[in-house]
Amino acid sequence: MSGDVCKLSMGDIVSLCKRRGFIFQSADVYGGLQGIYDYGPLGVELKNNLKAAWWRSIVHERDDVEGIDSSLITHRLVLQHSGHEDTFSDPMVDCRDCQCRMRADQLMDGKCESCGSKNLTEPRQFNLMFRANFGALQDESSFVYLRPETAQGIFTNFKNVVDSTSRKLPFGIAQMGKSFRNEVTPRNFIFRMREFEQMELEFFVEPGSDEKWHGKWVEERVNWWKKQGLDSDKLKLFHQPKEDLAHYAKATVDILYEFPHGFEELEGIANRTDFDLGSHSKNQEELNLFAKVLPNGDSNSKLVMQDLENNSQFVPYVIEPSAGLDRGILAILTEGFRREILENGSERVVLRLKPHLTPFKAAVVPLAKNNPRIVEKAREIANHLKMLGLGRIKYEDVGNIGKAYRRHDEIGTPCCITVDFDTFEAVEESVTVRDRDSMRQRRIPIKELEFFLKEFYNPGS
Ligand code: ATP
Repeated sequence: MSGDVCKLSMGDIVSLCKRRGFIFQSADVYGGLQGIYDYGPLGVELKNNLKAAWWRSIVHERDDVEGIDSSLITHRLVLQHSGHEDTFSDPMVDCRDCQCRMRADQLMDGKCESCGSKNLTEPRQFNLMFRANFGALQDESSFVYLRPETAQGIFTNFKNVVDSTSRKLPFGIAQMGKSFRNEVTPRNFIFRMREFEQMELEFFVEPGSDEKWHGKWVEERVNWWKKQGLDSDKLKLFHQPKEDLAHYAKATVDILYEFPHGFEELEGIANRTDFDLGSHSKNQEELNLFAKVLPNGDSNSKLVMQDLENNSQFVPYVIEPSAGLDRGILAILTEGFRREILENGSERVVLRLKPHLTPFKAAVVPLAKNNPRIVEKAREIANHLKMLGLGRIKYEDVGNIGKAYRRHDEIGTPCCITVDFDTFEAVEESVTVRDRDSMRQRRIPIKELEFFLKEFYNPGS
């Protein structure tokens, strides 16, 4: 390789994602739904691998975090008491000339972003939550929301988790899953969607220790993103100014990544203080309503911890590292996809993903598809490797060997294992293993393949 490398544009990434089966526009056979995307055969593997890496590092490798999986459909009172019903909105304007609708806080020079007209309506607040009818009734009293963040399911289960696990502070509750926001202007592919996934941790701490824990979590989360392959030069911290903070936050630090459209938020780490637990158990009238949906009934439903020394109760503070899974995928694809000029002047597109994230862990390629001995051995190896639990192994018998290598470079497969005529030459059977990044090939005895791959895929959480 001559070393000439160029990053791909957002347009290149979108078309590669479609061509290779990572991400598709949802319902594209009907013209598509704006801001909604489907993950294809390779995309779902990448997404699951990133989720698994997050869960490993946040839940499995720690002693102080429990996981949950709460419902997407959310009781209206939860989002009323959390403040979302009143404040979870963006200012919106319409262009009177071309009818384009956009966010007022993202306008350039007060001009319509589509036609440049200044003939815009006054900004008005637009609530971002999706409402749905619950049950057979279709009136005002019966609606629910699709959750706009996974966090509220954690707060409302706080007491259930404490009671069932006997947790003491500091400890966290993690969950990942879908969230829904009716964004005014979904854009930049999977960067801003209307249905997306979040990976959120609510880490509960003693009031007074919150600032220390906030700093710790910012550091932890930056390091984790680096382990997923993001370059430190493309990561930056942004301390939100006081006037921009969300209604629940005392301080928020955003981790920004340099996406193809510029530096933007990948993850936000907020100090939510005691706002959420406090407001879910606050005043008696509200508490009585709330107690109907909690098993323990009235004052027992307060979301508090006991201070045994002083025989009193207090509301813990909470630090929230909240990451966007889809933005993570976009960052990893932006980082990984590159076009390289090889020494012979030819070009290849390669997706340099960390091995624990790749959709396929290896491709097993029979060099001659019409040679029964080679085919049988390649199938035998692929079947054996599939049982190791490393992830998907591809038995690749489409196209010639050069095309197979190129295709697997483009989808990030870290190595191709080729069964060829030399396999049976020596007493000890061997295969050629070609490395995606260096393109170097080396011979490995078949009996050492399992060990080699296990070393190679040592999960990078
Ligand atoms: P933004 O300012 O970009 O709208 P936010 O500050 O409202 O984001 P949070 O409420 O902090 O976002 O949500 C936590 C994370 O969820 C974000 O850092 C982001 O990665 C992800 N996220 C939020 N909204 C979207 C969206 N519409 N599409 C995809 N991911 C999103």
